[in-house]
Amino acid sequence: MPDNAGKNFTKRIITRFLILVGVLMIIFGILSYALTRLNVAQNSTDNMSAAGSLMTDLLDDHISALCSRFDTVLNAPDIERYVIDIGGDGGDSISELMDQVCTAYPDTVSAWLVSESSGMLIGNGGKILTPEMFDLKSQSWYVKEISGAAGNSGCICTGFAPPLFGGEENVITVIVPVTSGGNAYAFCGLELTAETVFPVLSKYTFSSGSYPIVAYDSEVLYSDLRGKFDIADRTLQNIISKQGFFPGSVDSYVTENDGTVYYYKETGSVTGWNMIVLFDSKSINGNVYRNFIQQLAVLVCLAALTIMFGMELLKKESEDLCELCGCAEEIAAGNLNYRVRGVSEKTEIGSAALCLNKIADTLQAKNAVINSFDTTDTLTGLNNRVSLYEYMEDIIRTREAGRSRFAVMFIDIDNFKWINETLGHSFGDAVLGVFGRELKKIIFPVFRFSGDEFIIIKEFDNDRGAVREVIEKLHACFDKPLEVINDNIYIKFSVGVSVYPDDDLTPDLLLRDAEMALNRAKDSGKDRVAFYTNTLRDKSPYSKAALAHSITGALKNGELLLQYQPIVSTRTCDIHGFEVLLRWNSPEFGTVPPAEFIDVAEESGAIVQIGTWIFESACRTLRQINETLNPNVIMSINVSPVQLRRENYMEHVRRVIDITQVNPKNIQLEITESTLIDFTDSDNNVINEINDLGIALALDDFGTGYSSLNYLKNFPIKCLKIDKSFVDEINNSSRDYTITDSIIDLVHNLGIHTVAEGIETVEQYNFLADMKCDYIQGFLMSKPLDEAAAIEFVERYDALHKPDKRMMEENERRLATERQEKELLKKAQPDGGEGGDMDDFVISE
Ligand code: C2E
Ligand code: CA
Ligand code: CA
Repeated sequence: MPDNAGKNFTKRIITRFLILVGVLMIIFGILSYALTRLNVAQNSTDNMSAAGSLMTDLLDDHISALCSRFDTVLNAPDIERYVIDIGGDGGDSISELMDQVCTAYPDTVSAWLVSESSGMLIGNGGKILTPEMFDLKSQSWYVKEISGAAGNSGCICTGFAPPLFGGEENVITVIVPVTSGGNAYAFCGLELTAETVFPVLSKYTFSSGSYPIVAYDSEVLYSDLRGKFDIADRTLQNIISKQGFFPGSVDSYVTENDGTVYYYKETGSVTGWNMIVLFDSKSINGNVYRNFIQQLAVLVCLAALTIMFGMELLKKESEDLCELCGCAEEIAAGNLNYRVRGVSEKTEIGSAALCLNKIADTLQAKNAVINSFDTTDTLTGLNNRVSLYEYMEDIIRTREAGRSRFAVMFIDIDNFKWINETLGHSFGDAVLGVFGRELKKIIFPVFRFSGDEFIIIKEFDNDRGAVREVIEKLHACFDKPLEVINDNIYIKFSVGVSVYPDDDLTPDLLLRDAEMALNRAKDSGKDRVAFYTNTLRDKSPYSKAALAHSITGALKNGELLLQYQPIVSTRTCDIHGFEVLLRWNSPEFGTVPPAEFIDVAEESGAIVQIGTWIFESACRTLRQINETLNPNVIMSINVSPVQLRRENYMEHVRRVIDITQVNPKNIQLEITESTLIDFTDSDNNVINEINDLGIALALDDFGTGYSSLNYLKNFPIKCLKIDKSFVDEINNSSRDYTITDSIIDLVHNLGIHTVAEGIETVEQYNFLADMKCDYIQGFLMSKPLDEAAAIEFVERYDALHKPDKRMMEENERRLATERQEKELLKKAQPDGGEGGDMDDFVISE
């Protein structure tokens, strides 16, 4: 990911997160403000007022309820009369009423009624206090009542005093006036202990700490400070003893210990008592704590929301990322149809997804091209081996066996290796391209099998003539030179044919059969066509590995022999010399043709030792012939490139010349075009050294490779050996005739003489003699001879072997007879004579 994209991604995530946190902070602020308003701004004073007034009301209500105990008294129909007659029967009735109150409310210490006019006081249980014993007018509550200070609450509450009729505990008296026409004429009193009055306050608890004090004037009637506050605190005492009406408000005082105490004070409207409620700090802060707890809860909720939304945010991003990763994995696994979907293109992941999709598109497109390579050969544009198999399988599958036949024609360009080696691989490729294009012009499906191998499939009914027609078409097509990179070259090819279903039934086996037939065609001199026969399969070809193993001991075991094939002058018919040919008479494989084992000996390196032996043996024979019979006879010796590449090759050559005392001028070394490629770049090379020694160099097998005339110009070549395949055609093909003729002409101009190989007919001889080919080598003159025969050949050359017209005709006839006999022999053999032309050379012991 580019740096910028990474930064943007981080920025975006952080921004979003900050926005989220910001929004939630604002929400928190608003909620927090609201809560604080609720819990603190309305603050504890309101609550303290409410609590204090509630407690005051509670006590008032309680006292009102106590007053109602006298309802039976007040509502008694004769109460007025009783009061008037208080000294008589009325007193008894009042006492009875008081008894009823005391019986109904057992917490009553005593109940009484005092007459204002008489001053007589009658209590429960018939108790009487005369004005002398109880002076109404001096009672402080009475004074308050008279002065109107008691208010209009309907009752008067006193402070603590001893019970009127005796007892230990102080009592509170609740006095209810008995009125007539709005004027009190008597007063009922209810004496109660503090325990029966004040516990009502404990029924109410404000938050966790409200502490009531009830005072009558400065006298504390009740206090429930639970050790929290010091009642003796002077300021508190002052507050308690403060006279007058307390309107009901919250205030605070500073204690002697410098603590601030909030309190509420109110004068009970019924009781007239002062209610002072203290609140501890807990009560005050209670709301703050609650506020804190609530805000904490809000904060926790918001934090949870932040996490939730944050996760959601990350989830959205990570979902995209997961989609991207998943898609990348799919594409990496080769599923190129996969695409990233549902990702916003605006984000970095989106643009990465877009890139990935494009990569997949490109890969898919390239894959399609590659897939087409699977069936097409890029060099020639022909169908390749894969489509060949498909095509063959298709025919085999769809055509009913036995009704339709088809031929597999295995085509191989002759000596293509030479083209590659001499003109380079690019030129070779160009040749294949042109060859492929030419083949394409033929209507049948053409496939490039590999390298220089092409396959044509021809369907036919019964007549193999149809296949031959195709081959003729092919030959006609390549009878003219092909233009390849501004050059004109002739291309020859061999064809092997197998037929379905006659030869085999599967593509693999049919191709194998066609290739066997092709090898057969090549063995029999290239530029040929061969049909597959069962005998080809049965023939046991030499195993390369077995040959390689055996050839190493062949020399030591005396299995190798040399033969000498005469080379004759066309101009004088004199003997020019011999080509030395190697023979291997293996006890294991029988007579092995050099074409089979030279390659093997080269690959194993055995050719070096064998070559040394050949050179030395040939030089000895040459020396003998030169010294005793003919000083001009030359010996043409085949040399393998493997030998020439050895550093000590020249040393060995010089040594042998030294030992044998042979004239280097009578030695000729035969090398092929491909050998020369190795030495093109080096100035001071073995080729020059050979030449400097006076040994002649012959270019062998001319006409089978690219046949470049450049080599003739650039190397000290003295002799050109025209290959048998060219010679074979000169009397059949005007093209080959013209080529051979012009080559001979051309090389003569370069001071190079020519040897034609493989002359078997007088006609060929005449053609070549006409062309002024200098020398002839072939069965028409002589087959290769063993050493003794070769010496005898020179010795009695003029008398017996010098060719003339009659002798050549006789030889030709003999060769023809031999061929016929061979044909007959082949036919008589169980394999139909497919075993090869082993008897083209004779091995004499
Ligand atoms: P090459 O050098 O082209 O040898 C000529 C081949 O043509 C020989 O086959 C010879 O027997 C054959 N020949 C000559 N005249 C006729 C003819 O009129 N009709 C027919 N049908 N064949 C004819 P050979 O001996 O089988 O040798 C094959 C190849 O083996 C040689 O081709 C050469 O490349 C290689 N070779 C043979 N001897 C040696 C050797 O001593 N050293 C090396 N390095 N290679 C050798
Ligand atoms: Ca040769
Ligand atoms: Ca040759």
